[in-house]
Amino acid sequence: MAISRKCSFCGRSERDVKLLIAGQSGFICDDCARQANEVVMENMRHQSSFDLEVLPTPKQIKAHLDQYVIGQDEAKITMSVAVYNHYKRLRHLNSYNNEVELDKSNIIMVGSTGTGKTLLARTIAKLLVVPFTIVDATVLTEAGYVGEDIESILSRLLQVANYDVAKAERGIVFIDEIDKIARKGDNPSITRDVSGEGVQQGLLKLLEGSKINVPPYGGRKHPEQKFIEVDTSNILFICGGAFDGIEKRIAQRLNTKVVGFSAQSEAAKIDKNNLMQYVSPMDLRSFGLIPEIIGRMPVLTYLKPLDRDALRNILTKPKNSIIKQYIKMFEIDGIKLTFEDSVLDYIVDIAIEFKLGARGLRSIVEQIMTEKMFEAPSQKIKTLKITLDYAKSKLQKANLTILKDKN
Ligand code: ADP
Repeated sequence: MAISRKCSFCGRSERDVKLLIAGQSGFICDDCARQANEVVMENMRHQSSFDLEVLPTPKQIKAHLDQYVIGQDEAKITMSVAVYNHYKRLRHLNSYNNEVELDKSNIIMVGSTGTGKTLLARTIAKLLVVPFTIVDATVLTEAGYVGEDIESILSRLLQVANYDVAKAERGIVFIDEIDKIARKGDNPSITRDVSGEGVQQGLLKLLEGSKINVPPYGGRKHPEQKFIEVDTSNILFICGGAFDGIEKRIAQRLNTKVVGFSAQSEAAKIDKNNLMQYVSPMDLRSFGLIPEIIGRMPVLTYLKPLDRDALRNILTKPKNSIIKQYIKMFEIDGIKLTFEDSVLDYIVDIAIEFKLGARGLRSIVEQIMTEKMFEAPSQKIKTLKITLDYAKSKLQKANLTILKDKN
């Protein structure tokens, strides 16, 4: 009689799974192996202890960011200090000598889309020993509307903290697209935009620090428990938004300020090419954020639009830059891939000409490399050089229009 081979974990037979791996006295299928891996990873994350005694200094945090994020020094310094202070504050809370209360400083990052806000947040997350989650503000709705409730932010944080409430309560949350939840219109007195304002009121509660009842959805650990109470007082919130057109607002404000008030000397000092550096909380108000929310994010920083040099550096400089990734992929097949310098300049030219930004760089390189990636593994080549002519031949105008739509 043929022995039927079954996964010793889920019991499914060889026929019903993609892969069955044999052990000394049993089998495991691909699904169970993957799940087991997740459990191990989750456990390891959980065990990595929260050691407040070995804080990375702001300089160390920035040095880490420098490896992955090009430019944006102001934002990097502000974030490094804010994250360091967050840790320091938590350590202070745990100490006996804490009669001076240290306030938490939530952060808001302003900068056009694709300038590195999320990358900055993600890169910081890698370094952290506190739970970290990223949420998109546009999916948030007031309770009772279609979409995700504000509490879902905390559900996610709980999930990454493996339902360790104390750990979640000192985590960091990055809320992206904060400028998209504005109430409509500048004027608070015009007809109320219930959902926008409702979401903001909800967020305000989190930012201020409140005890919130959180549904533990997706929680395997507490299926019987309806709500978990999470205190947000020590959670650091970092918000990001493009605030399109904010530079015009800044210019207007600066102009009105300088007119009639030693106008000459003040105006002369203003660097018109980088108005973003003058961004102030006042400028955010015209985007429909309620003043209380702005007041709860005392640290305001900005990201500059990426210029030609920045785009060129993004291609090659970060530790895991796009070009390094392609070189690695070919290296795995035993092929040494190189690019003519002019190809890299050309890629940047295209990204600028078609306004594709940093996000577009990868699509452009992909477009150039697809055919080679298809052919090379079956050819017996040891080296491959991408020339300018080849790159140009792969980037036809028609394709570029498609790229533009993709980004
Ligand atoms: P944002 O959140 O500001 O819209 P992202 O951080 O998502 O932008 O950036 C999009 C992509 O562009 C990133 O994945 C990264 O590859 C690249 N990128 C953007 N800005 C930078 C930067 N300053 N340094 C390195 N890469 C960047």
